[in-house]
Amino acid sequence: MSPGSLLVWPRRYRPEILPLLSAAHGNLKLTLYPDAYPIRYSDVVTPSPPDAHVKSITKEEFAWTRFGVPLDWLSSLDEIPAKNALQDAFGDRYLYRHNLVYAGVRDAAIGFGYRFSAEDTPLWRDYQAFGVATLNRILFGGIVPYLDTGTSFLRLVKEAPGATLPLSFIAANVKSNHAFHESAHCVAHSVMRSFEGELRSIATDPTSAVLETVLAEAFANTVEVLGSVFRNQEAADKLFYQLNSYYFPLQKRDDLMRRAAEELGAGTRFILLFLSHLEANLSTENPSDAVCERVAEAGGCPARSAGLSRDITEAGFELNIGFRENTNPYYFGLFGHRPGYDALVKSCWLSREDNRRFARMLAGMFWKAAGEL
Ligand SMILES: [Zn+2]
Repeated sequence: MSPGSLLVWPRRYRPEILPLLSAAHGNLKLTLYPDAYPIRYSDVVTPSPPDAHVKSITKEEFAWTRFGVPLDWLSSLDEIPAKNALQDAFGDRYLYRHNLVYAGVRDAAIGFGYRFSAEDTPLWRDYQAFGVATLNRILFGGIVPYLDTGTSFLRLVKEAPGATLPLSFIAANVKSNHAFHESAHCVAHSVMRSFEGELRSIATDPTSAVLETVLAEAFANTVEVLGSVFRNQEAADKLFYQLNSYYFPLQKRDDLMRRAAEELGAGTRFILLFLSHLEANLSTENPSDAVCERVAEAGGCPARSAGLSRDITEAGFELNIGFRENTNPYYFGLFGHRPGYDALVKSCWLSREDNRRFARMLAGMFWKAAGEL
């Protein structure tokens, strides 16, 4: 492909949209490549700047921020029914079909008796208004609320046939669903019901209720990171994951997770990442040497892979700092558990051998529940 030209729409897909794209992208020359896969970043070449005033952007930035994607094409990616998928949450059916971690957590949540609802109820309204305060009602009520973004998107497609929008614009303007994250809490909650005795014996009041919630949060963070590395159709993966998760695909994290699976195996990768998130949820600092060492030791990481284990711990500590500094302490404070949270933060919980043994065993159960990925 020569500089100055731009992809690329497969001939089998609606050549009539080319004039629309031409209009949207001004002086770019558009070329049809008969067998091109729709909107793979590798198919997009940004033009050489015609003069110094034009900012050059990478092909990935171009594809994400400027390239208009037909809305009906996006919608068609998400229209194939799948068992346990939510037909009216935009991107959910696509993710359920193509993302094994996403599907594994959904199946586990449904297996434990949870169901998902976009019905307008007091819980659904409270969740939309102030979601974090509704976690206990979700766990004990058995219903995970979500927003029927897919229905809204479909109405838009019908209203504006042939319309295109950049993926970044859609990601920024369609409301995200977090049924994936919430259902991970439900799975963790259900798994831990079998270990109530052990939980009480290793953490006495007031820390036991906090510990259970933090363990579940670490599980939710872990499956969201692991789910972010799945690729089927890159542009769709990136958009739909962002619309259904707190995380988004990142090349650096993909590379690390793949390396970890190859070198350590998926089970050890999961345990290390889970323990890293457990530590991150109890800290507002970057991970110290002591934290990295106790994660590696508790996770059973071989000494030769200490560097990799440290990288995984640092990835776990990329957990949103606002969440670590504010959401966690205020959440526990809201329900009268602030002293327990503060005590757990101070305790360096993983430094005790019996706690490490319990965390390792629980991580193994969580890993199994999510499909051993
Ligand atoms: Zn959470």
